[in-house]
Amino acid sequence: MKKYSERRLALPTLALLLAACAGPATQPIETPPDIPAPYPPEVAARFPAPPVRYDTPAFAPGRHAYTTDEELALALHGVAAQPGAHARLLALGTSEAGVPIEAVFFARADGVRRPRVLLVGQQHGDEPAPAEALLVTARQLAGGRLAPLLEHIDVAVLPRANPDGSQTGSRVGSHGVDVNRDHLLLRTPEAQALARAMRELSPALVVDAHEYTVVGRYLGKFDAVQRFDLLYQHAMVANLPPAIGEASERWFRQPLLQAMAAEQLAVEWYYTTSTADADKRISMGGVQPDTGRNVNGLKNAVSVLLETRGVGIGRWHLARRVHTHVVAQRSLLESAAQNAQGLLALQRDAGAAVASQACTGDVTLLGAQAATKRELMFLDPRTGADKPIIVDWNSALQLRPLRTRARPCGYWLAADATEAAQRLRALGVHVERFEEEAPLEAERWRETGRTETARPDVRGTAGDAGATIVNATVVLDRERLAAAPGSFYVPLDQPLANLAVAALEPDTQNSYFANRLIERLESGARVATRPTARRSAVP
Ligand SMILES: [Zn+2]
Repeated sequence: MKKYSERRLALPTLALLLAACAGPATQPIETPPDIPAPYPPEVAARFPAPPVRYDTPAFAPGRHAYTTDEELALALHGVAAQPGAHARLLALGTSEAGVPIEAVFFARADGVRRPRVLLVGQQHGDEPAPAEALLVTARQLAGGRLAPLLEHIDVAVLPRANPDGSQTGSRVGSHGVDVNRDHLLLRTPEAQALARAMRELSPALVVDAHEYTVVGRYLGKFDAVQRFDLLYQHAMVANLPPAIGEASERWFRQPLLQAMAAEQLAVEWYYTTSTADADKRISMGGVQPDTGRNVNGLKNAVSVLLETRGVGIGRWHLARRVHTHVVAQRSLLESAAQNAQGLLALQRDAGAAVASQACTGDVTLLGAQAATKRELMFLDPRTGADKPIIVDWNSALQLRPLRTRARPCGYWLAADATEAAQRLRALGVHVERFEEEAPLEAERWRETGRTETARPDVRGTAGDAGATIVNATVVLDRERLAAAPGSFYVPLDQPLANLAVAALEPDTQNSYFANRLIERLESGARVATRPTARRSAVP
């Protein structure tokens, strides 16, 4: 029997349902709210319930809790075991508190090579709709309306990347670190689990599903409530292969805008604002290589961020939020299936293009958003009427290079920089070890000054639980270096070269030096010509 995780309700049924449980006509609540209304009924009326009923555990009648970790695991195991689903479980690791982090992977075992898609939810624990929506999508892939797409693509669904934060309703994990600023440093087990999924699956499309703050600081700064059902952004980061950005726009964003319009869901570029009340600038999502969106872009995947209105409003409009994610995920999966051959070629060609740049041209170490203006539509917090506001808008669409440096052939790391070498390997970067002494034409970084600050972010700081970074100013000294046997070489003629640049140029906020994974500048060097000494790959 076909099992659908959603049902389109016939219109008369829908009308009866709304009449039976909607209360006042201006307040179409689909589930019992768990917190007092965050705004008056006039505002709530702008977000009617969708014409679809979802049946994840969170939507059980009268229920207040979201789907628990146990319920989610049970449901995922059930999907993976479903006959004919072509699915299996991926055990990716455990959270800081020891909760399994699991994905269900749909792939037909018929020998056909298909591009892979990775769908990730709830890296931030206080953003619940994505996990509910991903469970719906997993069930639809297993035997519902999305199953035919598996002719063209393989799909891994990881509904809850931060189970500890989810249990406590907290943005960060139980270590206090923001998992979604940890994808280059990999200090948290949750980011390590996602890196493992990336390494083992090598997806051509990654979708990272979140929710954003609806009232909070927007009420204080703009006397307004957030309006958009969906905020969207793909990877925007220095050294991203241009073909990845172009495919993101053409193959995925344009069809997504149409899918949203067809469901009368409002969509805008992703943006956020600093947690400091006096700072009224609005910024698109960050351009640093720290978020999943940007790091996965540097892994040559089309990498997409989806955000629904959800933080700070409890279960209000939960069905609409879940519906928005389900519709957006469906659109992205359909686009991936339609462009399956193109995606495989894109992934291969983008990686080859990155590898071919070794020893030539420049790399950008620091890019900045461009300060512009934009009219954004908000809602009046009392009447619910549209409230357009012209804001100072930092655009990530035109990245301004602030610091560039010649692209080396590779990087040398001292034999004791094993932690850095291991993190690079966990990212999927190819790392080698010299088997004999190697004379290298090198450039060493010499520190001329430093400050120590919290790691900055478009929200203010990156949520590192009080940790500081080293902001070093450096100059380069040329020197012939005799690399000892056992020391490391990270060649840039590889598809993930730009991740090595992001990690190893020390004077950037996300580098391994700035974040103290590499203690001394003397432990590394830029290598200007390809070494000839014997080397072996680090496993
Ligand atoms: Zn988030």
